[in-house]
Amino acid sequence: MAGVPIVPPGPFDTVEAAFGEGAVGRSLRLRGWVLRARSSGGIAFLVLRDRTGSVQVTAKRDVVGDGPFARVEHVQVEASVRLVGTVAADPRAPGGREVRATALEIVHAGEPFPIFSDQTEEFRLDKRHLVIRSQEHVATFRVKAELLRALREFLERESVLEMTPPVLTGNPAEGGAEAFAIDYFGRPGYLSQTAQLYLEALLFPNERVYALTPSFRAEKSRTPRHLTEYLHLEVELAWVGLADLLDFVERMTVEVSHAVAERRPKELQLLGRPPQELRELEGPFPRLTYRQAIERLRDQGFPVEFGTDLGTAEERALTLEARTPLFVTHFPVGLKAFYMLRSVDDPETVEAADLLAPEGYGEIVGASARETDIDRLLERLRATGAKPEEYEWYLDLRRHGSIPHAGFGLGVERLLRWMLRREHIRETTPFPRTPSRHTP
Ligand code: ATP
Ligand code: MG
Repeated sequence: MAGVPIVPPGPFDTVEAAFGEGAVGRSLRLRGWVLRARSSGGIAFLVLRDRTGSVQVTAKRDVVGDGPFARVEHVQVEASVRLVGTVAADPRAPGGREVRATALEIVHAGEPFPIFSDQTEEFRLDKRHLVIRSQEHVATFRVKAELLRALREFLERESVLEMTPPVLTGNPAEGGAEAFAIDYFGRPGYLSQTAQLYLEALLFPNERVYALTPSFRAEKSRTPRHLTEYLHLEVELAWVGLADLLDFVERMTVEVSHAVAERRPKELQLLGRPPQELRELEGPFPRLTYRQAIERLRDQGFPVEFGTDLGTAEERALTLEARTPLFVTHFPVGLKAFYMLRSVDDPETVEAADLLAPEGYGEIVGASARETDIDRLLERLRATGAKPEEYEWYLDLRRHGSIPHAGFGLGVERLLRWMLRREHIRETTPFPRTPSRHTP
């Protein structure tokens, strides 16, 4: 047998072809992985998966031959196979079609697949490289790919240019406490927490810029919405104030939700988010000032006062019943980063807003107009304990043609967690990084 392929070389079809119109009676050449297998009395049933779907395959001993049949009887879940077979209508098969193999070849029979139901979460995270073959993960990452595509398409329509800022940096952009420090050839270095300062520099020659890069946060917070590495979409727009920026964020959220609902309805449904809920999302999103939010929370019994940060519980209380995201605007100066613009009407606050996802999922976007006054920036830097010398290059931006501008950062996995109703943010990324885990 050696050297004689059972399935001769040539172009292959995909599983979805078995479900096409006019497919019944056609001969297909398929390859993929075994989702399930069983055999009884000279007939084997396989469920074959490829990137387009899964289909039931039957193989009869007297058709495929004794040798191949014996090997089929011993395949493991996730074995890889190639076959030639004829599509038949069969109401008992999932999707109403099955493929009756005329030739079947095991590419790799495999060892017993170690993943099955009821295993502990820790074990499943250890075996993440195999667990990501599950239907839920496949669906999740297809929606994620579509979301990224929709975000890029939206930004393209809005004439915002994609930039590639560095991820290795010499000064922590958001303060040292939550930065991962690294040894950069004997000098201190940091993994980027945000690309914002670089995007601000790139704004001057380009006016409308964005970056889609990983951000790193060395925060030990074990919450269902924090990763230590996440994908950060950051946008910076020239000549824009907070109100216009929030319109932009709103438009973006609505349009990408519609696009994902349009393009991945099956995956959304599988993951427990009826696609029409995303299709029906519409602006305007309510805008609540921080002062109003505090009032509302006090009415609900939260011991909050001006200056209290809104944590998971507070954000949840504000949005639990909501179907639409909510902007909380004008936070106290002391709660927000040094580069945020002081409000003229209410100088104890900054021109900043967080977008909170509905149903209690919490913050998905942090936005603000940026401070243009160099003395204010210096004052704020000193107040936060940072060394202004380290920000000299950034301060230069305020010395040459400074203009009003604003920007925001969106956590892609945060947005996806809400869209897909995932309990934990780690389910929205293939290899999650959390305080307790950076392998596999
Ligand atoms: P939080 O208060 O929830 O920690 P943050 O105020 O630190 O958020 P920003 O610094 O404003 O967040 O970052 C912009 C966006 O990046 C956030 O709105 C969120 O969507 C996302 N983000 C921030 N930290 C994380 C994280 N640890 N994991 C995943 N996404 C994050
Ligand atoms: Mg944070």
